[in-house]
Amino acid sequence: MAPTTRPSSSGPKTNRHELLFAFARQTPNLRPLCAAAKRLSATHKRMESAKHDVERKTLEQRHQMSDLDRLRHSCAHVLATAVLRLWPEAKLDIGPPTAEGFYYDFDLEHRFSPEDFEAIEAEMKKVTKENQTFERSTKTRDEAKAFFEERGQSFKVERLADIPEDEEISFYQNGEFVDLCAGPHVMRTGNVKAYKLLRVAAAYYRGNEKNPQLQRIYGTAFPNKTKLNEWLEAQEEARKRDHRKIGREMQLFAFDDDVGPGLPLWLPKGTVLIEELEKLAKETEFEAGYDRVRTPHLARESLYKISGHLPYYAESMFPPMELKDDDPDKPTDRIYLKAMNCPHHHKIFSAVPRSYRELPLRLAEYGTCYRYERSGELMGLMRVRSMQMNDAHIYCTPEQFADEFRAVNEMYLKYFKIFGFEKFSMRFSTHSAERLGDKYVGEPELWLQTEDMVRKVLVESGVDFVEVADEAAFYGPKIDVQVYSISGREFTIATNQVDFAVPKRFGLEFKTRDNTTETPLCIHRAPLGTHERFIGFLIEHYAGNFPLWLAPEQVRLLPFGDDQADYAKSVVAELRTHGVRVKLDTTSDKIGARIRRAETDRVHTILLVGQREQEVGNLAVREHGKGDLGAKPRDEVIANLLNKIKTREG
Ligand SMILES: [Zn+2]
Ligand SMILES: [Zn+2]
Repeated sequence: MAPTTRPSSSGPKTNRHELLFAFARQTPNLRPLCAAAKRLSATHKRMESAKHDVERKTLEQRHQMSDLDRLRHSCAHVLATAVLRLWPEAKLDIGPPTAEGFYYDFDLEHRFSPEDFEAIEAEMKKVTKENQTFERSTKTRDEAKAFFEERGQSFKVERLADIPEDEEISFYQNGEFVDLCAGPHVMRTGNVKAYKLLRVAAAYYRGNEKNPQLQRIYGTAFPNKTKLNEWLEAQEEARKRDHRKIGREMQLFAFDDDVGPGLPLWLPKGTVLIEELEKLAKETEFEAGYDRVRTPHLARESLYKISGHLPYYAESMFPPMELKDDDPDKPTDRIYLKAMNCPHHHKIFSAVPRSYRELPLRLAEYGTCYRYERSGELMGLMRVRSMQMNDAHIYCTPEQFADEFRAVNEMYLKYFKIFGFEKFSMRFSTHSAERLGDKYVGEPELWLQTEDMVRKVLVESGVDFVEVADEAAFYGPKIDVQVYSISGREFTIATNQVDFAVPKRFGLEFKTRDNTTETPLCIHRAPLGTHERFIGFLIEHYAGNFPLWLAPEQVRLLPFGDDQADYAKSVVAELRTHGVRVKLDTTSDKIGARIRRAETDRVHTILLVGQREQEVGNLAVREHGKGDLGAKPRDEVIANLLNKIKTREG
């Protein structure tokens, strides 16, 4: 099934449409869903272009501007006022609010740098202290044109043309600064109390590279200093936890131009994470009665025609390979890289005759999929082109559905506990009766029956969930699970979906007790999402300080001197026999320097051996994040480590 782990709305440059688009694109899908994804894709493309040339807000949109946006936009005026005081020759373009704050674009010979920020902010402070009112006035088009021409503000002259003929041309003035603007603003510059300039970037006028390059100063503003400081701290924390930064520091994964964008290379330490997660999934799924399968990374075009992915999903798949047959009379074969595992699994179901005795049949695979994401959308591990998915498809009868669904739900909760996701929520999307046969597969009974069962399971499990009507997938109700990292970052980790329709398209059947044939229901589930996104999230969740069972280097032995080297080596050897990832540091560096190095390397547990420890057969334990835990008998320390690894606690 589809990975629906994706960057959160608090992440960089995401918006609701983008999320919807990503979601629709990454959901196991059928014609209507694909059509929906396509429509969203068109919306997305419009948004992409809007990224480059900010569309002028309508008066209606301005009217609805939030208080925060109003404040931030007003702060952009304050910024422009300050810049003009310091560099009167600056030419101004526009200064809209953004998701993180605001910006203003300037054309100026002087190159802005963060070193200028102090002077600009000091000037902004004077402007806010002067507590100027934002006064509105209007001009005719000709007056406005003359006004800006006189002042050499050529961009403003051109921007006049963006204002619809029937809209008043309004100006806002604070102190000596006059701007072409339709508002709205706060009352006075004094209302702008807490702000900070963030960075400067190049931006083409109207986003077109044929136009002059302007300098964009980004800033943010909040209603008060406390809120500003909280935001700045959260930004700093997010920067520290950025999975790309930690991934580099810890040497977990890499990208290479010759391999290609969006195709992560897993380095040995990152591969440890992958294998530990697979081990967890395999153990958990084995216990829950799943069977493992393996499928190739390729399939013929016909498979995706049956599944409904082609032609609708084609733009999210890599283009096909054309294979000419040796026999010139035979048609050319078209082979696709698989973008999802479901069709292959359905073919495994139908590969042998199935009886009711085999159901529920749970087919699991950490399947590798390839999806074509445009290069501009790739982002570290969060948006990639190749992904390994914790996938499984459960084929069952309607009677078995509730138990199966409950078990999947419990599996999610079990995982959350292991990873310490204390906060999570579920979103239960149901159908709408009016749209049966159009937006939703026409099985009124099945819809009501399964939705009732899903609801009952959710209520019984006591988890937080919201029910949203008319947002189900075409072929059945679904649940999206959102989790929150320690730092509060939101992440849609997985979906759990019921499928009434696809098994029919594939002609999946089983013999019933009465020797008739029936089509099974299918549950798509991927609680750990894809390795790429899930590990990206875990890196940020743990800030790279993985729990013992997951840590790439679990233990490092540090003997104080040469005399303790043999004792340390014997501990290393013993831990290795138990499969512990342990290293020995016998370099001649001072012990303090070696401890610091191990901590920088994010080793989970450091075991120190001094003369005293050696004499009595002890080990001195230091744990990441906990510091010195004192010396304990060797056997106790080892037993404790092994137990923690086995139970995946701590
Ligand atoms: Zn699936
Ligand atoms: Zn304005």
